[in-house]
Amino acid sequence: MSVNFANKVAFVTGASSGIGRATALAFARAGASVAAVDIDEEGAAETVRQIEKSGGAAIALTCDVTSEAAVSGAVRATLDSFGRLDAAFNNAGIEQPVAPLAEIGATDLDRLIAVNLKGVFLCMQSQVPAMLAGGGGTIVNTASGAGVVGIAGQAVYCATKFGVVGMTKAAALDYAALGVRINAVCPGIIQTPMMDRFTGGTDEGRARVVAQEPIGRMGSPEEIADAVLWLSSDASSFVVGHAMVVDGGQTV
Ligand code: NAD
Repeated sequence: MSVNFANKVAFVTGASSGIGRATALAFARAGASVAAVDIDEEGAAETVRQIEKSGGAAIALTCDVTSEAAVSGAVRATLDSFGRLDAAFNNAGIEQPVAPLAEIGATDLDRLIAVNLKGVFLCMQSQVPAMLAGGGGTIVNTASGAGVVGIAGQAVYCATKFGVVGMTKAAALDYAALGVRINAVCPGIIQTPMMDRFTGGTDEGRARVVAQEPIGRMGSPEEIADAVLWLSSDASSFVVGHAMVVDGGQTV
């Protein structure tokens, strides 16, 4: 896909792995300078190494998205390094152990809400003023197919991802007229380390989840990155508050 992010700056959370790393690399290939943000310091450094090896510019920022101070520090560090912020992809997230609602512990509930929902909130709260100061920008938040339909054994994960969709739509209305365009992406079953943990990494586990995919396979992280770059680019300039499902037909 040809979208041009030359002279633009992208901030990607969850950039050490899976969808986040693929999207950080895609932003860099499209010309953006990239802040690779993750709680996993070594993974973020590896993403930066891969970007620099291909001639791109990037910095690794170690940041727990559940910490307001860490998130605002990461946005400040991005502005200090690159001078502006144009595109944010708030994607860091964790999975829920498969269990019916009554068997989910309060600790799991708190952690899932903190990372998947509060993390997106804190990121947008720091990013929006930076974008407004620079004349506008785009934000894409990672929700999930589990943010548009219920999935058995995933009550809390679904709640966080429905929450991301709702927060995205409301925030999009807050800032649409001010030049910050906010949307969400809702991936289906994507081949990432998170999905390997979910399936147990076995052929049987993989077959079980692929059976939910009308397209007959898992998606690749790069297929989500393509959607994120489109939503972050001028090619989607009239798209506001949209939860874009990219899921091989899983939720159709
Ligand atoms: P992944 O586990 O491969 O990558 C997630 C990244 O988030 C990791 O690098 C991890 O270190 C980082 N992270 C976790 N907690 C963090 C925190 N507190 N602060 C900062 N970084 C943190 O997972 P993935 O499959 O690439 O998932 C990315 C996003 O996509 C998640 O929000 C996930 O819920 C969502 N998603 C994934 C799938 C899928 O099938 N893989 C489907 C739908 C939605």
